[in-house]
Amino acid sequence: MVDLSTRLRSVVGDKTAKALETAFGMVTVDDLLRHYPRRYVGVGELSDLSTLRPGQYATILARVVSAKNYSFGPGGKRTRTEVIVTDGTGRLTLTFFQQAWRLKTLAEGTVGLFAGEVGEFRGTPQLTHPIFEPVSDEDGPSEDSRLARGIIPIYPASAKVTSFSLERSVAQALAVVDLGEDPLPAEVRAARGLADQAEAFEHIHRPRAKEQWQRARDRFRFEEAFVLQSVFAQRRHVVEHDRATAREQVPDGLRERFAERLPFTLTRGQREVADVIAADLARTHPMHRLLQGEVGSGKTVVALLAMLQVVDAGGQAALLAPTEVLAAQHHRAISTLLGDLAQGGMLGGADRATRVQLLTGSLGAKARREALDDAASGEAGIVVGTHALIQEGVEFADLGLLVVDEQHRFGVEQRSALVDRSEVKPHVLVMTATPIPRTVAMTVFGDLETSTLRELPAGRQPVQTTVVPAAERPEWLARAWERVREEVAKGRQAYVVVSRIGTGGGDEDKDTTSLVDLHDELVGGPLSGLRLAMLHGQLPADEKDAVMRSFAAGEIDVLVATTVVEVGVDVPNATVMVVMDADRFGLSQLHQLRGRVGRGSEPGLCLLVTNSEVETSRERLAAVAATSDGFELSQLDVELRHEGDVLGSRQSGVRSSLRLLSVVRHEDVIVDARDAAQAVVESDPTLAEHPALAAAIRALEETEQADYLERT
Ligand code: ADP
Ligand code: MG
Repeated sequence: MVDLSTRLRSVVGDKTAKALETAFGMVTVDDLLRHYPRRYVGVGELSDLSTLRPGQYATILARVVSAKNYSFGPGGKRTRTEVIVTDGTGRLTLTFFQQAWRLKTLAEGTVGLFAGEVGEFRGTPQLTHPIFEPVSDEDGPSEDSRLARGIIPIYPASAKVTSFSLERSVAQALAVVDLGEDPLPAEVRAARGLADQAEAFEHIHRPRAKEQWQRARDRFRFEEAFVLQSVFAQRRHVVEHDRATAREQVPDGLRERFAERLPFTLTRGQREVADVIAADLARTHPMHRLLQGEVGSGKTVVALLAMLQVVDAGGQAALLAPTEVLAAQHHRAISTLLGDLAQGGMLGGADRATRVQLLTGSLGAKARREALDDAASGEAGIVVGTHALIQEGVEFADLGLLVVDEQHRFGVEQRSALVDRSEVKPHVLVMTATPIPRTVAMTVFGDLETSTLRELPAGRQPVQTTVVPAAERPEWLARAWERVREEVAKGRQAYVVVSRIGTGGGDEDKDTTSLVDLHDELVGGPLSGLRLAMLHGQLPADEKDAVMRSFAAGEIDVLVATTVVEVGVDVPNATVMVVMDADRFGLSQLHQLRGRVGRGSEPGLCLLVTNSEVETSRERLAAVAATSDGFELSQLDVELRHEGDVLGSRQSGVRSSLRLLSVVRHEDVIVDARDAAQAVVESDPTLAEHPALAAAIRALEETEQADYLERT
């Protein structure tokens, strides 16, 4: 019996199976049947040869009028096959190179379907290497021929495996496969009028009408969203039953005392989110919350309040940062904000004070020992660190809260590393670097509850952003460096951000400005006399930290850096940023970058320098300049980028499972699927009555790189 998990070999034969695996990585019948047509051409919409335009994708039904081989090239060793076809309305030339054998299959009088993108040669349209499928009249138009069906599916194909041969393999598979039970529960389908699995497979591959393939697509699109949301619904269900220690607020504890001495008032959003988190922490099952917020909205303070609540209740908190620079900065900032509240056991420490330790890979042996000891003994209420924090050998006396900052750089497998160790689970708070669209949050962080900070603290000056087209307007670039000098003269500081480090050579992109070159150029020219320093990821960690420290202390005027300054770096005295080759960065990334300036009381200025003349690049940069709303930009970013980029490489397991579903365009489907999945899992948590759905979930989880779905 053939089912969806059967290997293709036994259905389409060794040779074809091998070709399908090489071209598309297909192994099972399921892989083949989920390789959906990219488009459909109605036979009635077959292109008319008299109206072909270059650039158009044409599918034509035509008869070969003549076919000839020509030699060309040095020694006449190369061949070009020219085939002229007609459909009665006009003629078209098909060209094949180095395929002399085509003459045999394309003899005069042959009728077939030809498809490809129309090109042009000496002013006349032609098809080069079109796909070809003979249509035999001898058999007569059988009931089931694609001409009789009236619609031709066009598959994503490769040079070796054409759309037509995929169509044949699919037909073979559909003829023998026993699909088994439908992973979409009948009640879920019925409520939405969705096609069942058998109908959908038939109609997505072999439709007889447009409505049929549309209905089939709707069903599979919903299925993709539904299976994924069922994974999350199950996770949420499991978490509901996980145990955590309740960490109640303690009157007059560190949290309260810290809140009282804050040098600013919390925004309303910060207060609301802090209250929600405080309530989560006081419950006996683990919090799993995503805190996303506008750049500069003050997520760190909110996290710190939560950490202190846990410390007050006798537990510890770990703060995981994506880079050493950020970890060190968080450690400094938290220590400063807490003041004597963080000097536990030290002379001058406040009553019941705690300790904040830093644990990164680059610590010296002694400092590392001390940090490890403090974590293990519980002396350190808060431990800030990078990956080093989640390595084996790091023990906590009582880890109550894990905060993951700027999640986009972390895989979930990493956040699970700490959490999975203990029987009683810590609470987890994940913070994103930039706002992300709701659908992305639901697709990537679907197991987390979400809180959002939209508001910026009062008194913040918006960052004025201007695009500098350096190639056309060199004087504007000169003016940009002048602006930097003016800010520095006022006692302010500046960032200059570049897209690459090196001085050229190798594969590096020579069109872009390198950090080293630019630094030297600025020192010797436009910014001479100012104190410049370089910061990039290849510097040794202690050097990076030293540079960041002196920049924060105002000992450096201009930091020439790569995107290491992108995430979270906080120096309120910095007021101007120049981004070189700005077209090389994503919109959200630029938004995140410019969030580094205008963090104090002075207005910020961001200059986006570009040499690009590509219109779309210019439009993207103009969009960044025109809005300061990170949510709007992230939505735009998502619309402009490939789905895969949006979901991130870590999420490749999910990415490969999404064929028809787009996080950009199908918000309604995702929301609907989430509700449906939630309802099914609530009524049948183990999915005992939904074995096909359970199997689909397992298959998704087994996807090689679906490691991010690991329990958190
Ligand atoms: P992000 O949300 O981008 O991580 P941060 O937490 O780094 O932002 O906060 C940005 C800056 O704003 C920090 O210097 C922080 O101390 C300050 N800040 C946070 N909340 C407020 C507030 N309510 N009023 C004024 N400044 C604030
Ligand atoms: Mg931050």
